[in-house]
Amino acid sequence: KTFDEINLGDGLKQNIRRCNYIKPTPIQRHAIPIAVAGRDLMACAQTGSGKTAAFCFPIISGVLKDPLAVTRRGGGVSTAACPLALILAPTRELSCQIYEESKKFAYKTGAQIAVAYGGTPIYQQLRRLEKGVDILVATPGRLVDIVERARVSLGMIKYLALDEADRMLDMGFEPQIRKIVEQMDMPPPGTRQTMLFSATFPDEIQRLASDFLSDYVFLAV
Ligand code: AMP
Repeated sequence: KTFDEINLGDGLKQNIRRCNYIKPTPIQRHAIPIAVAGRDLMACAQTGSGKTAAFCFPIISGVLKDPLAVTRRGGGVSTAACPLALILAPTRELSCQIYEESKKFAYKTGAQIAVAYGGTPIYQQLRRLEKGVDILVATPGRLVDIVERARVSLGMIKYLALDEADRMLDMGFEPQIRKIVEQMDMPPPGTRQTMLFSATFPDEIQRLASDFLSDYVFLAV
């Protein structure tokens, strides 16, 4: 299957072509159709496997099809940003990489993407969030800080991706991740789609998966 054969929407497909992605990598070939179909997913993925696109394409496609994204862009003043999608990553470097890639994939589609990571002043990130965001890429510690300042609401998150989940746990982010996901567990239940990507599958990752995912597909490619 090529990217053209998957139901991703025209704007996104054009950008995929522009990025010179012709042939899906194995993780993309398997994960994208499952995710586009709305299933939760736990995937074994190493760096360089093409995992970024594997979760970004379904998220961008879903956000663009979401009537809420359109409504929210139509104005309406709110103090807290209400993203529809959240991508969590362990480090500033990885979150920036995902942000830069996802911006290319979402070029001229209207999807608003922002990034927030620690180790740098928070104010610029807060100001960016005020402008509205559909897809937020963040590191767990900085996101908890922003949530506690009530500058972002996670109550509308429909898509959650955890990238390099094993590394996030190794870095001690489990409490922050749990705190973040708790913010999303608001009614109506069962409306969130979660994708967990990890290179390894120790017990702690299995536990995260059984706590955060529902009826998920496990992919090891
Ligand atoms: P990732 O594993 O997501 O960090 O991707 C590794 C590198 O492969 C990045 O530079 C991507 O832009 C590139 N890449 C991912 N998927 C494809 C694809 N289907 N065709 C061409 N390049 C790709």
